[in-house]
Amino acid sequence: MKGTNRKMTQGSLMRLEELRSGFRGTDQYIDFLAKEETIRRILEMKEEKDVLILGHNYMEPLIYQISGEGERGDSLALSKYAAKARNPIILFDGVRFMAETAKILNPEKKVLIADLEAGCSLADPFGAKDVLEYRARYPEAPVVTYINSYAEVKAESDYCCTSANALDVVKHAASESGSERVVFLPDSFMGENLQKELVKEGSNIDLIYPGKKDNKFGSCIVHEKISAVDIRVIRRQFNLPKGGNDTAVLVHWECKPEVLDVADMYGSTSEMIRYVSSHPELKRVYLGTECEMSANLANEFPQVEFIRSCMVHCPHMRKITLDKILYSLENEVYEVNVPEQIRVKALGAIERMIAI
Ligand code: SF4
Repeated sequence: MKGTNRKMTQGSLMRLEELRSGFRGTDQYIDFLAKEETIRRILEMKEEKDVLILGHNYMEPLIYQISGEGERGDSLALSKYAAKARNPIILFDGVRFMAETAKILNPEKKVLIADLEAGCSLADPFGAKDVLEYRARYPEAPVVTYINSYAEVKAESDYCCTSANALDVVKHAASESGSERVVFLPDSFMGENLQKELVKEGSNIDLIYPGKKDNKFGSCIVHEKISAVDIRVIRRQFNLPKGGNDTAVLVHWECKPEVLDVADMYGSTSEMIRYVSSHPELKRVYLGTECEMSANLANEFPQVEFIRSCMVHCPHMRKITLDKILYSLENEVYEVNVPEQIRVKALGAIERMIAI
């Protein structure tokens, strides 16, 4: 096997030892030992080829931890890291629309993903023609597109946004354009949640999202599975009272509105992490999002018990495996490319978001 006999460099050896001591005593230690050889070779490739490996919060812990501090996070954080990258190769441990965003920001770099079929239930059904339909129906309204979309969709949009900045981007788009109507695509639940938030703030913005005035619909197959009844049952079963002093239920913006209503806090994955780190009194937490996020946070906040009553995994994120990562790195295959004309237009929407 390629690389097996290669002597490890100091940097990759140190990182391997850091991972070993980080996983020791956790649920993943046996898995780490079983996959240590593959991890070792990935770290070697990373250093030898000077690869920036970006890891999304939803990756399983063994993959997530391969990316160091400042190389892992949510879509917004990863887009920012990608924008500043100096490395000639970026490997994205996430799904394809995220790798595409890295390519849009770094056209001269080689951007790889371990599985080109890693899609997204929000991004996959929405094409450029859908954006154009909304534009034709609401010509005065700026179009804000969630980052969970492909380049051709971003290219037809005025702004891109992530769950961490959607509200700010929508408000900015409305004030810049002078229109009280803003189109938000493609997540119907998030659109409804944002609209409720705007009303709470006293804003007059009329957010148009799939399903509000038509029969289109977009949702995340992970977050739509979480129900308000699930949250109530988890609260009872694990003694997580609403407004509890040292407990919290945090859910993602992509969940149904009734799920947000029964949570203690809702936000993006990075906002959930910030919430946990800024509340040192927390002892028990349930995260209403992809289950691997709880596993990753359990490693970062060992003093907090993360309720692992988890039934929601993203099948697209699960396509990324250590073996596929190694294969992609060794052979420099599964490259993500975006036609230049589309890239330049999509870049405009991303840059307008980053500027906000
Ligand atoms: S968790 Fe949902 S939004 Fe994220 S990649 Fe999977 S399907 Fe898409």
